[in-house]
Amino acid sequence: MGHVQCVRCGQLADEIAVPVWGGKIGEEVKARICGACWAAWTDQQTKVINEYRLNLREAASREMLTREMRKFLSLPASS
Ligand SMILES: [Zn+2]
Repeated sequence: MGHVQCVRCGQLADEIAVPVWGGKIGEEVKARICGACWAAWTDQQTKVINEYRLNLREAASREMLTREMRKFLSLPASS
């Protein structure tokens, strides 16, 4: 199992071992976030979806969830 220098917790830690989001953002997450921090986000993600009543079939909801994820994981916003 590989390791990743995680931007959220600052540790050199085990990489994510579960599937993450697809596409470019998924690759970014895999390269910069450790497994433990990703697990913390998946808990938080459920709370965010419930709190804001997000419907992930809607682009606006997906954008909001992406923003919340970047904030939570200390990933800079994409330009
Ligand atoms: Zn981490």
